[in-house]
Amino acid sequence: MSLIQVAVDTAAIAHNVRTLGQLTRAQIMAVVKADGYGHGLVEAAAAARAGGAAWLGVAQPHEALALRAAGDTGRILTWLYGPELPAAQLMQAGVDLSVNSPEVLGEIMAASRGGAPSARVHIAVDTGLGREGVTLTDLPGVLDLAKAAEREGLLRVVGMWSHLAWADAPGHPTVDRQAQAFRQSLAMAQAASMALEVRHLANSACTLTRPDLHFDLVRPGIAIYGLPPVEDPTGANFALRPAMSVTSRVVLVKDVPAGHGVSYGHEYVTVLPTTLGLVSAGYADGVFRSAGSVAEVSVKGRRYTIAGRVCMDQFVIDLGPVTDVCVGDEVLLMGPGGPSARDWAAAVGTIDYEIVCRFGALRPKETL
Ligand SMILES: *Cc1c(COP(=O)(O)O)cnc(C)c1O
Repeated sequence: MSLIQVAVDTAAIAHNVRTLGQLTRAQIMAVVKADGYGHGLVEAAAAARAGGAAWLGVAQPHEALALRAAGDTGRILTWLYGPELPAAQLMQAGVDLSVNSPEVLGEIMAASRGGAPSARVHIAVDTGLGREGVTLTDLPGVLDLAKAAEREGLLRVVGMWSHLAWADAPGHPTVDRQAQAFRQSLAMAQAASMALEVRHLANSACTLTRPDLHFDLVRPGIAIYGLPPVEDPTGANFALRPAMSVTSRVVLVKDVPAGHGVSYGHEYVTVLPTTLGLVSAGYADGVFRSAGSVAEVSVKGRRYTIAGRVCMDQFVIDLGPVTDVCVGDEVLLMGPGGPSARDWAAAVGTIDYEIVCRFGALRPKETL
């Protein structure tokens, strides 16, 4: 195991949820799928609740059940099912269930007939993302079936929701088109006399940029971890604080002459006599191999670009001919005062979502 450490500032998550709460009159569903975007499912959820999240959102049923097992008693919605939906178990646990298709509705009805408590259902509508949800064409059939199930006392449709394809480009015409299709779906639910408690469409980007589309509930994910997916024009990061930091240590410092090749393939060659620092962190720890020669790290407040290739559990930095960096000094790979998740994303050609999931995978795991 290398010396890399991932730390999560749960107070920052609580602060971020509180900050988002000040931007909206809607309730907040803090999205904690994928182990809380790498920050820890249970820790992130508890922090989000402390910050005022009335709801938690997860993709997979086992995550919802893990939250219940950890003692969370608030509203939780789960929306991604494989072929083995533990419907009865989720209904027993009082988890709200998203419905994507008549088949899922059928499974919920069967579980209810089998004795599970009546489910709270949110109908997902595909208003244009082309991912989860019922198309507008199929919606009337699903609403009819749901209405019949309601009359039989098998479930209650408490929500209708959709998800945006281009929310991080707030001016994109699909945002308004999807909002329009969503309003149309809501009108269909109303015509079917469904008593919806919550209508929800907004992810982080939409929460930050389109207050007119907040409806009753917003579903921010990445923003609660302090990483807004859109630029704050004032440069203040919407007052959000990144919650994850990643550090390691210098494990070797040595002087080398000019012309010394560094790491596999000698992609980096020293120009002058200099001092190299070896850092205990590599691609086995989530440091993208493509970060070699591009990404920066910070030691004692100074930035150093990774010198040459990232190896499995180590990489090298060129500390320069005169340095006060010693073995044991902390290397800040990511976090306040050092490179951001967005810097890493830009360096390796991805999005900060993937950066925190990747580094977060290093955290000691709760048993899910
Ligand atoms: C992941 C997800 C979100 C949160 O998205 P962010 O961009 O992280 O805010 C909201 N809703 C659904 C359905 C999601 O899958």
